[in-house]
Amino acid sequence: MSNALLSKENAMSDQFPVVIGICLDAEAIWTGKLPADAYRPVLLSNGAFAIKEGLKPVLELLDHHGIKATFFIPGITADTYPEALAEIRRRGHELGSHTYSHRSVLGLTPAEERQEIARGIEAVERNGGVRPTAWRSASWEWSKHTLDYILEEGVTVSCNFQDRIRPYRHFRDGLPTPVVELPVQWHLADAPFFLYGGDVQRRIRPAAEAESVWMEEFDATYDWPGAFFHLTLHVQLIGHPGRLKMLDRCLTHMRGRNRTRFLTCAEAALLVE
Ligand SMILES: [Zn+2]
Repeated sequence: MSNALLSKENAMSDQFPVVIGICLDAEAIWTGKLPADAYRPVLLSNGAFAIKEGLKPVLELLDHHGIKATFFIPGITADTYPEALAEIRRRGHELGSHTYSHRSVLGLTPAEERQEIARGIEAVERNGGVRPTAWRSASWEWSKHTLDYILEEGVTVSCNFQDRIRPYRHFRDGLPTPVVELPVQWHLADAPFFLYGGDVQRRIRPAAEAESVWMEEFDATYDWPGAFFHLTLHVQLIGHPGRLKMLDRCLTHMRGRNRTRFLTCAEAALLVE
């Protein structure tokens, strides 16, 4: 890395980009893990909460704060609930792709992975009326083929890697590609605090605990030159009353800092040369 690049990266910008990436998994959170979960109506209802209850207050909270987010939607969810995509888009948010059936790439053949990516993007485009350019895998995992496959489909934003707190560009064979990474972090996601059910048996944490971790990290990252803040949420997890109040407090806190700029993934990617 050249000194010029380092000094540019480390320059304190007059803007602190904040990206809110929200997964609308619905039942796919479970059927993607285990096909047999398709025969467990109560477990599926845990995911359906995203559509039946969670989405509306999440959208209203974002509107209240004047924030545009990026929603990552599995193709199967887009095919099942096209009206949800229409409502998200009507409110001005970005539609992103989240594979087709929410299966982890770890269990797929290369051909299956390629189809998951292509079908997922096509389903969001068909139901949402716009071709998504932002993409997140089902479990924050890539294979050695993933970059090739998402390039084929015109993806320009990946939200999967965890190696930096600055956005960066992916390279292939030493050359820059159109794909910008907006790195994520497990501690800046809601799932480690709240995801429960099926084969996931962990201790559910109080919302205030997530708030403490997120805002502690936000305040410290705010002072890191060149850094950005990327929060990952799931409608079926964050869309519950107490957690929504916590998210409201977080958004209020972030908006209270004068350099904060909320950006969609597509907007944030434009910051990377
Ligand atoms: Zn998901």
